[in-house]
Amino acid sequence: MRVHTPPDRGVAVPLRRESLWLNWILGGVLAAFLVGLIFRGPGDFNPLVDGGLGLAAMWAPVAVCWAAARRATNRLDVTLVAAAVTCFAAGNTYFVLAARDGQVLPVPSPADIGFLSFYPLMLAALAIPAIGQLRHVGWPVVLDGAVGSLGAGAVLAVLLNPVLVAAVSAEMSLATTVATAYPMFDLLLVAGFVGIGAAQGRNVGRRWTVLVLGLVTFAATDVFYALLQLSGTFVVGSPVDAGWAVGLALVAFWVDGTSRSAGRITPAVWAIPTQTVPTIATVAALGVLVVGSRIPVSNLAVVLAALTLTLAAAPLVFRHRIRLADMLLQAGTDELTGLPNRRALHSEVPRRLALDSRRRSALLLLDLDKFKEVNDTLGHDIGDLLLVQVASRLAGRLRQADLLARLGGDEFAILLSGSSPEQAVTVAEGLRSALSEPFVLDGVTVQIGASIGISLYPDQGETLGILLRKADMAMYTAKSTRSGHHAYRDSDNTDGDERMRNLGRLRAGLTNDEFVVHYQPKVDLDTGEVRGVEALVRWNHPARGLVYPDDFISLVEQAGLMQTMTTIVLTKALDQASIWHAQKRTLTVAVNISASCLIDLELPDRILSLLTERGLSPSSLMLEITEDFLMADRDRARAILVRLRMMGIRIAVDDFGSGYSSLSYLRDLPIDELKLDKSFIMSMAGDPRVTALVASTIQLAHSLDLRMVAEGVESEADYEYLASHGCDVAQGLYVSRPVPAAELELWLAARPSGILDGVPEPI
Ligand code: C2E
Ligand code: CA
Ligand code: CA
Repeated sequence: MRVHTPPDRGVAVPLRRESLWLNWILGGVLAAFLVGLIFRGPGDFNPLVDGGLGLAAMWAPVAVCWAAARRATNRLDVTLVAAAVTCFAAGNTYFVLAARDGQVLPVPSPADIGFLSFYPLMLAALAIPAIGQLRHVGWPVVLDGAVGSLGAGAVLAVLLNPVLVAAVSAEMSLATTVATAYPMFDLLLVAGFVGIGAAQGRNVGRRWTVLVLGLVTFAATDVFYALLQLSGTFVVGSPVDAGWAVGLALVAFWVDGTSRSAGRITPAVWAIPTQTVPTIATVAALGVLVVGSRIPVSNLAVVLAALTLTLAAAPLVFRHRIRLADMLLQAGTDELTGLPNRRALHSEVPRRLALDSRRRSALLLLDLDKFKEVNDTLGHDIGDLLLVQVASRLAGRLRQADLLARLGGDEFAILLSGSSPEQAVTVAEGLRSALSEPFVLDGVTVQIGASIGISLYPDQGETLGILLRKADMAMYTAKSTRSGHHAYRDSDNTDGDERMRNLGRLRAGLTNDEFVVHYQPKVDLDTGEVRGVEALVRWNHPARGLVYPDDFISLVEQAGLMQTMTTIVLTKALDQASIWHAQKRTLTVAVNISASCLIDLELPDRILSLLTERGLSPSSLMLEITEDFLMADRDRARAILVRLRMMGIRIAVDDFGSGYSSLSYLRDLPIDELKLDKSFIMSMAGDPRVTALVASTIQLAHSLDLRMVAEGVESEADYEYLASHGCDVAQGLYVSRPVPAAELELWLAARPSGILDGVPEPI
């Protein structure tokens, strides 16, 4: 996982800067056209303003939209918007060219075909992302959508009143009908958008205000246009032309923005709270009826308002039945993503497989890589946002006939009915590439991978249970080999057994006292003295010999054995500390504490009793914690750290600089020491930027009254540089590798007291 926090968390990070200049051109052309319209004055066709600038203001949005469509391949919705805008521009061009030649176009003319095509295309674009989700939403949600649509329609119908009145009093010809049709279609579009916004999991995308503004501009312009047409006074070059250009530009800006964000056209970054739309719609409909009792409004408005209220009341009337249906649906629906859940999978898959037992199908099991890291470092809210976006991207890649379910956590299952093994692999590749684009979550860009295991029906299993188990083993193979996806083979089964064996060995290792602790000295750069050591665990494996933490820590963590292991390390390290204490050596022992251990609120007390049992002062212990933990739950972290600190135990922040944290926590958490991540020190050689960074981090630590420790010091040059820049402590192979306690004592005894001899230890 890669996470990047931009300076302003509230702003989406543009993923690609290409074609941004197109937006600037669009803005410039539009501004020039508007200025031109102001200065051209009334009168005949003006070739520069009406012809040149007017047409440029129509085609610049077209260019922006197609650039967006090219960028967001696989986004039918974006392509549809581009097509809609193109149709409108084409219609307008026909219209303007005819006006240049002094022709008065009949209404309807071919230009109207272009204008009218805009509406179905736009509506389709808005509806497409919603349709995918509609399958999964309950009745009440669909009802909310309908109430929202009708309410918006009722309000717009009041605003359209002048047009409707004029249309009734004018002679109803094809021309007046077409002119009246435009505002009605706008009404449909805005109502459709509101309805979709209300129903579609309430997620309507980040730049939705731009779209609403664009659609409303269109509607207002069309009302004016209709009034001018009905009174026979419309001419090219009136301010009305500006309205369409602005409306089109806003639609283009919106589509450009959504194609840059990582999700579908309506990513779950901006959510309308449930019930907001139906409530507003109900109040608005009531308002329309009240207004209608005072001043004449169109019948259309009254009918729409009445329908809104009727539908809004429906849940009250049919409450019982709807709730029952909803409850049944909810039981099979994952609350977060709206996808079918594990229960639904277990009831649906056997049914589908039984429909045609000769047809081949595939079951895919997808598990996100390092999702836990996102949750731990960025918090559960961001984790939830990620899951919602992952669900929508996966759904976007599947056919209607496929079944996508969330099993829980970051695990998804997909049943591909009627799929060959090759097709299943192609789908798996497609799903992974859909997830490979970064996700923008509340202003933070996150990149995440996924591993997919595939099992085949009926060849590899005839029941869901067997298929899931084999897909799980295949998924594990995909994860451990980092291949991304893997189709089940019989050999995976033994790999699975191997995993179980490893787990068994680990448990046995913990009870059989196979874990040992090595110590690595930390040298005071000022005096050359060694006043502390870091305790690092190793596994004395009966078959494999000495195994280093990188090879087993994640297994310990996965197996939920971290607390057990930490207690073992702490006990051994403090046993050793009391031996050194008896030898009158003043050495502080630093023990690594993983984030999963610090959840345990009892930990401070347990540590305190370990210390008092051995007659050790709390200052002889230091705990090394990582930034991840500080970021996960700031309040809890603070509470635990404050308690440890009050007892007199010191705290170091380990791997500083490798995480994703902001620096602000350093100010308000009780910390004694920063350990700059070894990757910085190890890349200092020959890279002046890293060297400068290290120097300024030392200053930062000092300005916060913290001691700076450099890890991974491997050379004399690094050692000298750090010493000359005021770094407090060095740790690394140049000083000594981590060694058993007895070896450390020999090493200490051989050192001229207080001075580092400058010769690296043999490794
Ligand atoms: P860490 O806490 O950052 O520990 C420092 C690691 O850097 C150690 O690896 C150490 O052997 C290594 N190292 C020391 N000097 C140098 C050097 O000059 N160059 C290079 N390249 N490496 C150097 P080790 O012992 O394999 O530990 C790896 C990680 O495992 C530790 O990173 C720590 O995160 C974790 N770990 C180790 N022991 C424990 C433990 O008891 N509990 C927990 N929770 N985690 C532990
Ligand atoms: Ca450490
Ligand atoms: Ca470290």
